[in-house]
Amino acid sequence: MMPSLRGALLRHSLRGKITLGYYAVAAIILVASLFFVGELRTLEARVVLGQRATDLFNTALEIRRFERNYFLHHQAADLEENGAYLKLAQALLTANRADFTAIVPPARLDQLGALLDAYQGQMSAYAVAAQPAAVLEPRVRGLGQEVVAIAEDVARSERRQIQTTLASFRTLLLGVIVAMAVLIVVIGRALSLRVVQPLKEMEASVAAISASRRETLSAPSNDREILSIIAAFNHMLKELDMRQKSLMRSERLASLGTMLSGVAHELNNPLSNISTSCQILQEEVGESDVATQKMYLAQIDQQTERARNIVRSLLDFSRERAFRKAPVLLKPLVAQTVGFVRGEVSAKSVVRLTIPDDLSVQADAQRLQQVFVNLIRNALEGLGPDGQILISAEVRRVSGPPPGTALGVGCDMEGEAVEITVADNGPGIAPDILSRIFDPFFTTKEVGHGMGLGLFVVYEIIDEHGGCIAVRSAPGEGATFCIRLPHEETGGPHAAAGEKGAQ
Ligand code: ADP
Repeated sequence: MMPSLRGALLRHSLRGKITLGYYAVAAIILVASLFFVGELRTLEARVVLGQRATDLFNTALEIRRFERNYFLHHQAADLEENGAYLKLAQALLTANRADFTAIVPPARLDQLGALLDAYQGQMSAYAVAAQPAAVLEPRVRGLGQEVVAIAEDVARSERRQIQTTLASFRTLLLGVIVAMAVLIVVIGRALSLRVVQPLKEMEASVAAISASRRETLSAPSNDREILSIIAAFNHMLKELDMRQKSLMRSERLASLGTMLSGVAHELNNPLSNISTSCQILQEEVGESDVATQKMYLAQIDQQTERARNIVRSLLDFSRERAFRKAPVLLKPLVAQTVGFVRGEVSAKSVVRLTIPDDLSVQADAQRLQQVFVNLIRNALEGLGPDGQILISAEVRRVSGPPPGTALGVGCDMEGEAVEITVADNGPGIAPDILSRIFDPFFTTKEVGHGMGLGLFVVYEIIDEHGGCIAVRSAPGEGATFCIRLPHEETGGPHAAAGEKGAQ
């Protein structure tokens, strides 16, 4: 791969950024390590030099020791040792002169060299008794003392320098460690900004999607990995949406099946009214006055309109439409829905509505109707001969979940809400399944009798409206579904549904 292309690819990928971060940290550690190795070598050289300075001092002391012994006992061996150490001192001075000049001034080293030479001369003179011992001994001692003083000076200066080097090394070490820490923190922050930040933004977007505040994920950065995750996620969302729509469609078809017998029943009334009016008109042709004929014709027209409305509502319900909120008068919508599903209502079952005439909600009428179809159908299914369903609604100031509801999770709206309850006195719901009834495909009905999508669709629709649903139930005590929708000013409600009230 071309280096520039490779560079560009690396720059626009999380992997690239992390690799770059690692390289930067590795480079810092490498540079710091090289620096320390260099510093350690300097220190090592200093210690070696210090050792040599100490050797020189020790040699000077040895010279003096054997000098003293020789003066006391006059033994040739002591003179020999003295001479050997003198030579060693001269050799040490010559070999390390260049290095020692870094510790003491060159003039001092020259002085030491001259002193060693002079000492050697005086010692040789003493050995051959060239002059009286009383003259030579103080001279030799004086020279020896000076040699020791300068050698000690060299050793002390070197020790001091080692200490200074160590102190500055310590300061440097601390400085480099602090600088490294700062750099690593800076790189870490830069990495976090470039790598963690986009992930955090994605997390927030995913949360917004799950709260239905947005529909797709947008890319917070143009890193390859992020882009492919976003593409995969958005694809998944699209698929889910399509599946959801198809589930909704199949649920709507099932509801249509439920409603058909009710609709047939609803249509029966206007049709029989039309038929009656037609028969009367036929029988009275030429006999009744024009006003009576007009009245029957008006009735036919009215009943035709009523039948058309019923058919239109059914068509509206069956048609697939995009979600659209509009002001909906609740009572006629519920009443019509009850009328549609009442084909299933047993003779004694009663559906009662306690909904203010003027209560309207901001909702998608078709979807809201689907909610009522599903809830009423469920309630009807378990009802006994004395079964009753009560549908009530009111605007309330709410806070916290509806009392006694088990699935109050998420139903904790605050403030003004339209609270709709659908309560039945049927068999109720067992506590162990209460938490699962809103799950897709959860059903307690026999195969072929229920798809388990009714309450799932109800939940989705209410959620789509920004509302929530909770349930309160106990076996034998019926079930109460409590829906809360945000109360919005509807600005002139209109009847979205038919004209008929509940039975
Ligand atoms: P389905 O009606 O196809 O079973 P739903 O999602 O509408 O699917 O309901 C799921 C389950 O919840 C039902 O099978 C039933 O056990 C229970 N359920 C729902 N509403 C009621 C109710 N009003 N009374 C008793 N049980 C209910």
